Amino acid sequence: MFLDEFVKNKDDSGKIEMTNRGHNYIKRNSPKVYIRTYGCQMNEYDSETMAGLLENSGYHLIDNPEEAGVILLNTCYVREKVKHRIYSRLGELKKLKEEKPELILGLSGCLVQKEPEEVLRRAPYLDFILGTSSFYQLPEVLGQFLGDGVRGTKAKGSCRSMIVQVEEDRAIPEGMPKLRKRRFSAFVSIMRGCDNFCSYCNVPHVRGREVSRPCKHILREIEELAQKGYKEVTLLGQNVNSYGKESREKVDFADLLGFVDQIEGLRRIRFTTSHPKDLGDKLLEKMAELDKVCEHLHLPVQSGSNKILSRMKRGYTREYYQNLVDRLRQAIPEIALTTDIIVGFPGEEEKDFQDTLELVETVGFDGAFTFCYSPLKGTEAAQLEERIPEKTSGERLRRLIELQQKILLRKNESLVGKEVEIMVEEISKKSSDELQGRTRTNKMVVFKGRKELIGNIISVKIVASGCWALRGEVNSC
Ligand code: SAM
Ligand code: SF4
Repeated sequence: MFLDEFVKNKDDSGKIEMTNRGHNYIKRNSPKVYIRTYGCQMNEYDSETMAGLLENSGYHLIDNPEEAGVILLNTCYVREKVKHRIYSRLGELKKLKEEKPELILGLSGCLVQKEPEEVLRRAPYLDFILGTSSFYQLPEVLGQFLGDGVRGTKAKGSCRSMIVQVEEDRAIPEGMPKLRKRRFSAFVSIMRGCDNFCSYCNVPHVRGREVSRPCKHILREIEELAQKGYKEVTLLGQNVNSYGKESREKVDFADLLGFVDQIEGLRRIRFTTSHPKDLGDKLLEKMAELDKVCEHLHLPVQSGSNKILSRMKRGYTREYYQNLVDRLRQAIPEIALTTDIIVGFPGEEEKDFQDTLELVETVGFDGAFTFCYSPLKGTEAAQLEERIPEKTSGERLRRLIELQQKILLRKNESLVGKEVEIMVEEISKKSSDELQGRTRTNKMVVFKGRKELIGNIISVKIVASGCWALRGEVNSC
C-alpha cells in the first residue's frame, strides 16, 4: 500500500495507528521528512528528486530533524573524513531514535553503495538503506513502513528486518518530480557514473560506469524549468565532456550545449565537471560562441607534477593543462577558472608540491577546492607506497590555501570599478537587508537592494572586494 492510498484511509479524527515490524507509528498529519545531503551537486540533485517524489506522495519535507518522523542522510564517500562525519551523525541520531522509537531512520548514497555490510554492522538500528541506483524507490520503501508490511530484503547479519536496496547500475527512470532548493537556478543531471578510474577516486566504484541521459529528456526537463521561470541551469556529470560517448545518439556535449542554448527563457548555462583530457576544440569553440554559456569553467587539475598526475592516472600532463588554459583564455578572454587540487598524494615530494604551487601561480585560478589525499579502500592508489605523513600534507595544504587566497584577492581587487551582470539569487546570508547574486564568472556579489530584484538579471558596479565575495552597487534593472 502506498501513502496516497493510506492517506485516503484515514479516519475522521485524522488519527491512524499502524503496527509494522515493531514500529508503532501514530499518524496525525502527513509524515514529516528531513533529508540531509552530504557531498557534491549530484547528491543534491538526487536529494531534490527524493524530496519531489515524497512531496508527490503526500509527505511534508522539513528543515528540523527534531520534528521529523523520517530522517534520511543522503551520503557521500569522497574522503574518509566525510565518512567519519556521517557515522558520527548517525551516532547522534541513534540517541534520538532511542528517545523516539517510532522515528524511521535511513541512509542512502555513495557510502551505502560502497560498504553496505559495514553500514549495517555499524548502524544496525537503521530502518533502511538505499544505494545510488535505488534512491528513487524511497516513497515505496517508506510506504512499506507506514503501509502494509516490509517487502524489502532482510539484511544479512542483522537481527532486525531492515530494507536494503543496493543494486548496481540500475537504470534511473525519467520524468521524476523534483523539489528544487533554489527558485531561479537549477541542477540538471546529464549523465551518471564515470569511466575514468583516477587511481584515488571512489566515484566509479560507487556510481558505476558512465550512462548519458537521452538528449530529449534533458531538453524537456530544462524547457519545463524555463517555463517555470528558471533562468539558469547547471548541467551535471562527473565528466560532462564525455557526454554521449557510450550512447547510440550521435549527440556530444558540444551539441547538447547548442540545443540547451536555444531554449527560450533560459539566460545562463553552467556545467560541471569538465575533465581536462576530454575538453576538445569543438567544445571550446561552442563555449566561446554560445551567448548563454557562462564564462566560468571548473577544470580540476589535481596536481602540477607530471609524476603525480601519472600516478593519479589523470591522462594529461601539466604542459597539456597549461596549453588548454591558454587556448581557453584566447577563445574566452574573461573566463574564470576554478579547480580541485589534492596534496600529499603518495610519492609527492617537496619538488612535486612546488610544481603544483608554480602551476597555481601561473594559471591564476579564481578558486580552488583543496584536499589532503585520503586513501580509500578498493581504489588503486590505496595500494601505493610512499605515503606522505599527515603533518606534511597538512602543512602543504596550508601553504597552498595561503597562495590561492592571495591570488584570489588580487583577481577580485582588479574587478573594483567594473560593471558586471549578476543574477540576484536571494537575501544575503549575512545581512537581511542585503541581497546576493552571482556574476557570469560565478563570483558572489553582495549589495543593498529591494527583495523584488530576486530572480532578476541586473547590472551592478563592483565597489569593494574580498576573498569570498564582492560588494556591489545597483545601477540599473
Ligand atoms: N569528476 C571530478 C573530476 O574529474 O575532477 C571530481 C569528482 S570528485 C567527487 C571531487 C574531488 O574530490 C576531486 O576532484 C578530487 O580533488 C577530490 N578527491 C577525490 N578523491 C579523493 C581522495 N581519495 N582524496 C582526496 N581528495 C579526493
Ligand atoms: Fe573520480 Fe576521476 Fe571520475 Fe572525476 S574523472 S569522478 S576524479 S574517477
